[in-house]
Amino acid sequence: MKKDRLVQFRKKLEEKHRQLVEEVGKNVLYGKGPEDDSIKDLGDQASSAYNREFLFELGNGGRQRLKEVAAALQKITEGGFGDCERCGEPIADKRLEAVPDARYCIECQRAIEEEERTAAR
Ligand SMILES: [Zn+2]
Repeated sequence: MKKDRLVQFRKKLEEKHRQLVEEVGKNVLYGKGPEDDSIKDLGDQASSAYNREFLFELGNGGRQRLKEVAAALQKITEGGFGDCERCGEPIADKRLEAVPDARYCIECQRAIEEEERTAAR
């Protein structure tokens, strides 16, 4: 992916990250969740101690979204952003525009959802 495209996506993701942190940060007022070890690997990705504080206190839904956004940001830095994690093919531009933190191409996303549905039975 071209560098100027990456910069655009990084801006989008950083904005999303900031919003999520703000959003879930509000929930902190209504009660703190237990510390979660799985969130600690986000430590290095969180840009500041300020973010890290919030990450420990997020609700599960917001936490999961933040994790995905942070993972996408990390891929922009380390490489591999925009490639499907399942088949390795580039994810369609339109899909990335709509979901910049998408991990899979649309075909794999569908296949995974199908597998989950089947497994849940
Ligand atoms: Zn794929």
